[in-house]
Amino acid sequence: MSISSLDDLLERCRTDPGGRTKEEIASLLRLTDPGDMAALWRAADTVRREKVGSDIHLRGLLEISNYCRRNCHYCGLRRDNRAVSRYRLTPRTILDTVEALDRQGIRTVVLQSGEDPGWSVGQLARLIESIKGRYDMAVTLSIGRRPPEEWRILRDAGMNRYLLRHETACPTLYERFHPGDTLQDRIRALKELRALGVDIGSGNLIGLPGQTPEALAADLLLARALEVDMYGVGPFIPHPETPLSNVPAGSVKDTYKMIALARLILQNVHIPITTALCTLDPAARARGWSRGGNVIMPNATPPDVRGHYEIYREKGVGHAALETTVESIRGEIHAMGRSVSTSRGGSLKRSATS
Ligand code: SAH
Ligand code: SF4
Repeated sequence: MSISSLDDLLERCRTDPGGRTKEEIASLLRLTDPGDMAALWRAADTVRREKVGSDIHLRGLLEISNYCRRNCHYCGLRRDNRAVSRYRLTPRTILDTVEALDRQGIRTVVLQSGEDPGWSVGQLARLIESIKGRYDMAVTLSIGRRPPEEWRILRDAGMNRYLLRHETACPTLYERFHPGDTLQDRIRALKELRALGVDIGSGNLIGLPGQTPEALAADLLLARALEVDMYGVGPFIPHPETPLSNVPAGSVKDTYKMIALARLILQNVHIPITTALCTLDPAARARGWSRGGNVIMPNATPPDVRGHYEIYREKGVGHAALETTVESIRGEIHAMGRSVSTSRGGSLKRSATS
């Protein structure tokens, strides 16, 4: 792409993101020249400054169970992986961990797990109520797809947000890697949650076999149509006990391009620098935050089970205690001239109380 047409396209992304086509976004994903990519990072950073300001939000990620009834081809927690030792945290342990997050001044807890039928909706609702009754904290759930009648119960218990990545907006690819599940069902769940006033986060994987730049561009167009409040992109990382064990990890460069394009196309959303990206690139936080990102999710899972939440190879290995991680994250944020948010960092689209 010539410099003037690149500058022109980046400017049109900034001023009219909804008018951008799949082909235009795919052409930006194909950039390889370092100068061109630097222009993309700058454009994303400008929109980030305009739309979300300098704050970076910390959300505590608490992996409450690694049981899963699904069999996603890429994930180490899949049902057929018999090599995992499965755990489910008790409400007591979860509340103690939330207490630790509160002490760190973190105002969002993300409760994540496999699709675990071992948690009844009543137990989840009581857990959310206990957290909301004790702490001034937003509660996000990321526990896969549940029966639609449960959403209202969870919302009424105080659930503020839900993270459910659509993973890939290509229906054929989706069905290839998610036996017994469809993209339509995943999208329907996001819409049901949104209709109940729950803030929604979606996202996609990078590096699935067969995924083209057009498919990645379609991910962003879907996220725009869904009006998501948060959008996370993470590189696929192989896990030895899965059908995709021999597939190479997703590209770090493509992940940064998707972060920057998510900022340009979705604009007023929260964009985390994902743990998967941090696993592949030790400089991911500083790079990601200067290419569109504004969120980080430090791992608050108790160290004795952290290694069992092995979505991909060696996830959870070598991570320091929560206090140490949070301290170094704050230091990095200040060193970049950015600020640590003291708010809950709810939806940027609605003047929500979330
Ligand atoms: N079970 C829930 C939440 C836990 S999985 C769900 O699926 O929604 C959270 C995310 O981990 C998934 O959305 C997926 O995008 C990501 N993930 C799973 N396996 C991965 C892998 N091998 N590499 C990178 N990310 C992976
Ligand atoms: Fe289960 Fe989520 Fe892993 Fe799929 S991605 S196997 S739903 S934990």
